[in-house]
Amino acid sequence: MALVPMKLILDEANKGEYGVGAFNVNNMEQLQAICDAAAETESPVIIQVSRNALKYADKGLLAAMVRYMAEEKYPHIPMALHLDHGPDIETIKECVELGFTSVMIDGSLDYGTKDEAGKHPPRSFEDNVAITKEAIAVAHAAGVSVEGEIGTLGGIEDDTVAGAVHLTEPDEAEEFVKQTGVDALALAIGTSHGAYKFPVGTEVKLALNIIDDVHKRCPQTALVMHGSSSVPKHMVDEVNKYGGKVPNAVGVPTAMIQDAIKRGMRKVNIDTDGRLAITAAIRKVFTEKPEAFDPRKYLGPARDAVKTWIVEEMKAFGTAGHARDYKPVSLEEMKARYGG
Ligand SMILES: [Zn+2]
Repeated sequence: MALVPMKLILDEANKGEYGVGAFNVNNMEQLQAICDAAAETESPVIIQVSRNALKYADKGLLAAMVRYMAEEKYPHIPMALHLDHGPDIETIKECVELGFTSVMIDGSLDYGTKDEAGKHPPRSFEDNVAITKEAIAVAHAAGVSVEGEIGTLGGIEDDTVAGAVHLTEPDEAEEFVKQTGVDALALAIGTSHGAYKFPVGTEVKLALNIIDDVHKRCPQTALVMHGSSSVPKHMVDEVNKYGGKVPNAVGVPTAMIQDAIKRGMRKVNIDTDGRLAITAAIRKVFTEKPEAFDPRKYLGPARDAVKTWIVEEMKAFGTAGHARDYKPVSLEEMKARYGG
């Protein structure tokens, strides 16, 4: 089937009370691994591309590959193509034109400026509402879904260094949804981007009660968890065993993500784990077979490693088996639902 709006996938997940992984891609092998895992487990899936991945892959290249997977290879799997952390309206317009079926406008940070520490300062609530509404006007006119963010996450996403972490205030989240009509909302509950989410040896703590509160106030809005990689110890150990240097990396345990899903979290963003799986597999080949120089000999095992991991994630989040539950909805139909 053609790519579907992300709203369709998340509305279904909300009805069925399960989570859907949103996995980042930069290249063909990552995309194949994600789609193969979705097909094997019969899972709906969200493929996401950051603005730096867009640049890395000549803008339209990834979108073309994702469309191929949805239309030709796995027409029975609902797939959405989503822009991760859209920084401005220009990028939103660009992605709508490229055929993305969903965009995030990250109005929580002002991507146009940096403070003395080189960090993007947070936007005011009013400015966040204003830019999110602008993004919605552009996207909904094409049937494209929109994710916003309220509160700010820590950590590093691509080269974007976020400033201080502000957990989401449920009052503000409710008001934000009311004023913008956003389809999906990223909450700051204490996760951060990257491989070093928590100090090593300390108890991993997230403000899971924020999910309960916002889900109760905004039951129709799909809640989104950024920075949800689990950073599995076996992957980190493998990277380090074969000459890597990723010391003290700590992520969000799978059981905690499952708890978040029970409380109403619907979209679970995973990037770091895919990066670790690829790096571990490639390092292993380079160490054990130094004579290998055919990229297929190391990118192939890397692809397999990513797929194996994502199959586990799709089962853990409850997504497995839901691919054929519902009828696809086109962007045109969604446009009409938005009143366009
Ligand atoms: Zn993020």
